[in-house]
Amino acid sequence: MSTPEGDLIPLTSISARPADLPAAGGPGLVDPVGRSIYYLRISVTDRCNLRCVYCMPEEGVPWLPKEEVLTLEEIARVVRVAAQMGLRRVRLTGGEPTVRRGLVDLVRWIASTPGIEDVAMTTNGIALAGMAADLARAGLRRVNISLDTLRPERFRAITRWGDIGDVFAGIEAARRAGLRPIKLNVVVMRGINDDEVVDFARTTMDEDWEVRFIELMPFLDEEVSCAKGESTFDLQFVPTREVKRRIEAALGPLEPAESGSGAGPARYYRLPGARGLVGFISPLTETHFCATCNRMRLTADGKIRPCLLTDHEVDLKGVLRSGADDEALKGAILLALRTKPDAHHLWDGNRPRWRKMVQIGG
Ligand code: SAM
Ligand code: SF4
Repeated sequence: MSTPEGDLIPLTSISARPADLPAAGGPGLVDPVGRSIYYLRISVTDRCNLRCVYCMPEEGVPWLPKEEVLTLEEIARVVRVAAQMGLRRVRLTGGEPTVRRGLVDLVRWIASTPGIEDVAMTTNGIALAGMAADLARAGLRRVNISLDTLRPERFRAITRWGDIGDVFAGIEAARRAGLRPIKLNVVVMRGINDDEVVDFARTTMDEDWEVRFIELMPFLDEEVSCAKGESTFDLQFVPTREVKRRIEAALGPLEPAESGSGAGPARYYRLPGARGLVGFISPLTETHFCATCNRMRLTADGKIRPCLLTDHEVDLKGVLRSGADDEALKGAILLALRTKPDAHHLWDGNRPRWRKMVQIGG
């Protein structure tokens, strides 16, 4: 069923039986193609304090009314129930998670949920300086900080008004708070920041950061541009192999390496003698992105989205607010799991159309 909110599955098709549910402490949830799903990315708000050009238009994405957004208690309940089914890792995202009031309490609740081994957050870092210590005390283990340029003026242009100094202060606060490893997410866009990939990779010589280059994904209709109407997605997309080639030509061979935080969609490498790592996230050019997928997503308005790049969602909020018991919630989570696509199929014409990235959380 296609709706303006996406492809929603009717809840009447839910049939959770105790026999379907993996035992607590088991291997996690297993999807129809055999992938173990133990990681939930939770968007705690659709709001953001920036407007990155590739993520959302400057205007025209109305915020959700407050009552449509899951409460902190509802989010904590979903985590508790999912942890009983095999969920092990949680990442908080947004919009911008640091603008959600009560975030520190939410981290504390999630971190103390039986079965949850890891709580992390993806943030633009703008407000992190004032929060990193409290978040770490509450149980946050790690942060990924999005930073697409090292140049103040360019940062302002890409984010439409951000101050890069705030992000550097956030990185330093995260380091002091022991949130490690610090991962920097860099979305590479031709003509916008692709001339900085070598500069970013070079930072890993002295810093123990994991700098991850992310292929641009097609979430805005046609254009990603600092000056509206300048060029199309195809012109701005830069494949991982090109980024790798440019880094190796300038800085030497990239040797395969392991991230300190374990498996994920990134492939990691180390430059000769470097303290940190260089990673590549290649949703469009490498099939392992889907083949090793271990996650589902929960949107701020309470939909489970089994695949980032496919408009198909299960309405968990409807179940939560219907007074349902935990078994019914497990049924909705299982339904999402069972309908998780094997891959995103962007090349077969599938494209996410109903939500912008800011409404999913990456
Ligand atoms: N506001 C937080 C931040 O910026 O880190 C969390 C939400 S943001 C949507 C999560 C991640 O998605 C960021 O690293 C961002 O760079 C990435 N992202 C957003 N739009 C993207 C796109 N079109 N293609 C690839 N990555 C994108
Ligand atoms: Fe906001 Fe993050 Fe999207 Fe930038 S990438 S607009 S910081 S949600």
